[in-house]
Amino acid sequence: MPGIARQFEPQITRTGGAPSKYRFTARCSGCPKTDTYEAGRPAGDELVKGYFKERGWLLGRDRAYDLCSACLAKPREAQQPQLSNDAGPKGRQRRPSLQVA
Ligand SMILES: [Zn+2]
Repeated sequence: MPGIARQFEPQITRTGGAPSKYRFTARCSGCPKTDTYEAGRPAGDELVKGYFKERGWLLGRDRAYDLCSACLAKPREAQQPQLSNDAGPKGRQRRPSLQVA
């Protein structure tokens, strides 16, 4: 199996307790652009993927790798900023104490 299929989590809008709208959002990793697909009922990942692909998006295996059509079209001049995954309180690296005898 080549990788894990990309999944989209809908933001569900409820009206009177019942889900009325399913919103799938893609966010570009290269610029602040976002795009939203709205459906009146649960949409499969393939459907959502197809929608964004039609609009020129490149969907990565994770939302952190999505690119909008504009960013896809332009050459990548700038290197991606290094996003550290280990941000947060426990991301600090503990260095083994070196004791010189
Ligand atoms: Zn972009």
